[in-house]
Amino acid sequence: MSKFNISIGAGCTFCTISKNLPVEKETILHLFYYCPTTNNLIDQWIKKYCKIQLPEPTRFFTAAITPDEGLNSGFQTATEILLYTIWQYKLQKKVPSAQSFNTDVDYYFSSCLKASHKLWEQIFNNRLFRHYGDE
Ligand SMILES: [Zn+2]
Repeated sequence: MSKFNISIGAGCTFCTISKNLPVEKETILHLFYYCPTTNNLIDQWIKKYCKIQLPEPTRFFTAAITPDEGLNSGFQTATEILLYTIWQYKLQKKVPSAQSFNTDVDYYFSSCLKASHKLWEQIFNNRLFRHYGDE
């Protein structure tokens, strides 16, 4: 019955599966940022593909990374794809491996890039991201 009563907060899906005790309430901030599962996935993705550190939550969710709106806009797309991928795993009640997560993010990202030449330019001219040949 608790699933029909919104006042009874459900525990975080990933923490429940991973037995991260005590299981935190599944708030938006927990699920998409502070959850140890999520935080590790987004942190390692950003380390692999970006030249920045995982920003603190306000800057991460608003993509307010630099004073340059063009750079931020490319990062915003990455953030939205990361959050979308996390949501998909949450709905499937699965804790992804870093490899599965990266494969899915890559797939969604490349689908978006194929659909929009403007986005492609925004990402490939964006110095927040690592590019082929970068150190
Ligand atoms: Zn959690």
